[in-house]
Amino acid sequence: MPLRPFPYIPLTGRGSRRRFPHGACKARRKKLYEGKAKSLYEGPEPGTLVQHFKDDATAFNAEKRDVIEGKGVLNTRLSEFFMDGLNTIGVPTHFIRRINMREQLIRSVEIIPLEVIVRNRAAGSICKRLGIPEGEALPRPIVEFSFKNDELGAPLVSEEHIIAFGWASQQDLDDMVALALRVNDFLSGVMLAVGIRLIDFKIEIGRIWDGDFQRLVVADELSPDSCRLWYIKSGDKLDKDVFRQDIGNLAEAYTEVARRLGVLPAMATQMTKPHLIN
Ligand code: C5P
Repeated sequence: MPLRPFPYIPLTGRGSRRRFPHGACKARRKKLYEGKAKSLYEGPEPGTLVQHFKDDATAFNAEKRDVIEGKGVLNTRLSEFFMDGLNTIGVPTHFIRRINMREQLIRSVEIIPLEVIVRNRAAGSICKRLGIPEGEALPRPIVEFSFKNDELGAPLVSEEHIIAFGWASQQDLDDMVALALRVNDFLSGVMLAVGIRLIDFKIEIGRIWDGDFQRLVVADELSPDSCRLWYIKSGDKLDKDVFRQDIGNLAEAYTEVARRLGVLPAMATQMTKPHLIN
């Protein structure tokens, strides 16, 4: 009896979803970058990328690592919520749309090699550097820049360094500070409305070229991985410090942020492990 030809399996459309229910067809797309908490894949159209949020958690320059079930799903939705909100009020971001529970379609940007940090209250590295007690309100929001280089531990840099080494121009710097402060106003307001204080956050900024003209946009992610969020009533931490300092359950903390903001996807956490009943 002649062999029947191997059945044709479509890679797109409904058929592929049924045959590759857990994204097995993803192996066919080109991975462009694998980071600590996210991966980037080639996008479906020129100028786009697919950003995939992983469950991996790292701290202290990846010296501490774990996998937190559901973190990627929560951060996908939270980052979408913040970026979408920013787009709506005219602060440009890389976010285009959600693809699935862990993936977003984003604009491909040229990342400026700086971490832009805004602080409203003292926490983390500024306490160590300047001896300020944790939680102390700062006289005004303070914008800091770190050089985006893991091998060097992302050192703090001055505007002098940034301009002298050509990472950004003076005009870029002015625009980056303005962008970061607008993000701070937006995020602080959104979080305050649900009883959470925005202590500080980090953003990355990218350039989008339109001929010779460039536009700066908020890129990477905005999530409890990159912010410090304290519950106002109790002072409880609802961000990555829970993992850094081993002070609770990270997925529960992020779930609480998502629940308060009304962006909790159904069954985001604690769904993968079967439990015996009896
Ligand atoms: O550690 P530090 O106090 O400088 O962090 C300030 C803010 O920037 C925190 O919200 C932290 O989560 C965030 N951050 C980040 N990625 C880094 C460094 C800091 O998201 N590589």
